[in-house]
Amino acid sequence: MRFEQSTCPECGGPPGAIEETMLVEQAIAFDEETDTWEYTGDYQDHAETLEPALDTEGRRTLLCSRDSLHTWPTHVAAEV
Ligand SMILES: [Zn+2]
Repeated sequence: MRFEQSTCPECGGPPGAIEETMLVEQAIAFDEETDTWEYTGDYQDHAETLEPALDTEGRRTLLCSRDSLHTWPTHVAAEV
């Protein structure tokens, strides 16, 4: 694919990753001491649900290959 903005606005580097979302099942268990439900730390990924995270304008978020704290939104220019 091609992006409308394919270079980092902070340093000019190329993108190294794209943000995506995925369904994850987090296991919980009842803790009788506190009378609450708590995360156990076990989880199961559902990779078949991976899809690009889109903002309200339909843009993807790219992460800079030089510094993953550099992120920027962009539309896909073409799905080549
Ligand atoms: Zn950068």
